[in-house]
Amino acid sequence: MASIHRRLEARYGDLGWWPADTPYAVMVGAVLTQNTAWRNVERALANFDGPPTPAVVRDLPLDQLAAVIRPAGFCNQKAVCLKTLTAWFEGYGDDPAAVRRQPLARLRSELLALRGIGPETADSILLYAFGRPSFVIDAYTLRLCRRHPIPVGPGYAGAQAHFQDRLPRSVRLYNNFHAPIVINAKEHCRKQPLCQDCPLHDSCRRLDD
Ligand code: SF4
Repeated sequence: MASIHRRLEARYGDLGWWPADTPYAVMVGAVLTQNTAWRNVERALANFDGPPTPAVVRDLPLDQLAAVIRPAGFCNQKAVCLKTLTAWFEGYGDDPAAVRRQPLARLRSELLALRGIGPETADSILLYAFGRPSFVIDAYTLRLCRRHPIPVGPGYAGAQAHFQDRLPRSVRLYNNFHAPIVINAKEHCRKQPLCQDCPLHDSCRRLDD
């Protein structure tokens, strides 16, 4: 595990994720990126006049919010989710510092109770918006685990536990492990993998999906 992280970090460095200006913009991006490519998220974000803010999302009628985020797909569901998430954030006075003062388990439980927020979105928000150590598992991570292989437990919780049980509880480490997994999946570990020059080439058994 540590050697995989070392080689990914050596190749890709500190990627400085998440690509957003504010914690709230991270939250919005984490919802919009569900089931779509990041370029579509960027197109949706460009329809806001500057970085999205809680006030703008609160004030927009639901149908207008859906129209703004339409490029990201599933716009009606995502608009409802953004409204719900924004109401949750309002409970903390729209204040990231107030969120960060809460225990991680409480925050995760609150987020998972919101409509449209699953574990990947919740952990992305916790890690990248609020700097809390919650390892993000996504399709790219699971693909790497299958192919390398990394013998994670079943389901999202099993995979997350595998990483968290073997890594120091570090926001920086979680950030600089998950982010390069995603980038490496886009550059090398694609559906049709480009194994030559992959930084994990030496250790990977390249099992088929
Ligand atoms: S060597 Fe190939 S299968 Fe293994 S992680 Fe790299 S791209 Fe994926």
